[in-house]
Amino acid sequence: MSDNIEKVKCLIIGSGPAGYTAAIYAARANMNPVLYQGNQPGGQLTTTNDVENFPGYPEGITGPEMMLQLQAQAERFGTDIRNGWITKVDFSGDVHKVWVNDETEIHSDTIIISTGASAKYLGLESEQKYLKLGGGVSACAVCDGFFYRNQEVVIVGAGDSACEEAHYLSKLCKKVTMLVRRDEFRASKIMAERVKNTENIEILYNTETDEVLGDGQVVTGVRVFNNQTKEKQEIPATGFFVAIGHKPNTDIFKDYLDLDETGYIINAKPGTSKTNIEGVFVSGDAADHVYRQAITAAGTGCMAALDAERYLAAKDASFEVNTATNY
Ligand code: NDP
Repeated sequence: MSDNIEKVKCLIIGSGPAGYTAAIYAARANMNPVLYQGNQPGGQLTTTNDVENFPGYPEGITGPEMMLQLQAQAERFGTDIRNGWITKVDFSGDVHKVWVNDETEIHSDTIIISTGASAKYLGLESEQKYLKLGGGVSACAVCDGFFYRNQEVVIVGAGDSACEEAHYLSKLCKKVTMLVRRDEFRASKIMAERVKNTENIEILYNTETDEVLGDGQVVTGVRVFNNQTKEKQEIPATGFFVAIGHKPNTDIFKDYLDLDETGYIINAKPGTSKTNIEGVFVSGDAADHVYRQAITAAGTGCMAALDAERYLAAKDASFEVNTATNY
């Protein structure tokens, strides 16, 4: 092995709630974790305004602020947090290899993947503008729906996620308009039926988004068009929810890890964070298309660090499970 290859015990990829929680636990267990933040330090939550459903913040907290606090907590116990993007991995041997920015090679006994998933957006300029402003565009009804209670919102999508989120919103909002681009749902029959039978959900079939309308600060409506008749209409709304799927950030692992057809990492042993490769663990949304919450990501981050610690202890008698770790 060349001298300039760094060797670490625990390398964490990703800086959302999963990655930072794994780092807190791994650092407190003397694993000297190194965490690479990726291109979006703080992960998806940095695109959220207020987080009101994470236990311990009775007054709520902004997403970016919460992520800075998680980072500080991980650093307090000695996590080495670095900027950088993992561009390649090689999990074929006993020691797991990763490359940072296609240059630096690092070897690690354990890897914790916390690379998350990215919500898909339509890509319209107006959608991205109000998303960045935090002015009424969201890809998570459970996170942000509460801010639109008793208001009118629009949701795009026709899969199970869109149906679940539309139904969730219908319980909070005065009216939910659902835009379905074809003349039928993709969602399972039962989910679609539930939406169709909800009084305050109006479904517009063959309908796509032309533009998200706003006053420069916040969303005020959505202009849509019927893709059969080309007819346009404006729908007043204060919230625009996009529920057209997520893409797990797992492309670099596909040659080594078992992924499902959408690209989510499959847990080799349900109820643990283990993947099909020994010493490689997964936490957060990279393996979760169901819950996708900060709190569940944090929980699985904890699991991954504990699994990694036990793996190290079993592999190397000189590495003792830190009995002082408070779990
Ligand atoms: P899906 O890929 O299943 O559905 C995406 C939906 O978004 C489709 O209806 C698609 O339309 C629509 N869409 C995509 N791009 C656009 C666009 N540019 N403009 C308008 N509409 C668009 O994603 P989901 O997130 O809904 O589900 C992912 C997986 O998770 C699925 O397997 C699902 O079953 C599962 N899931 C299960 C749940 C449960 O069982 N409780 C809850 C949530 C998800 P089109 O149909 O025309 O392609």
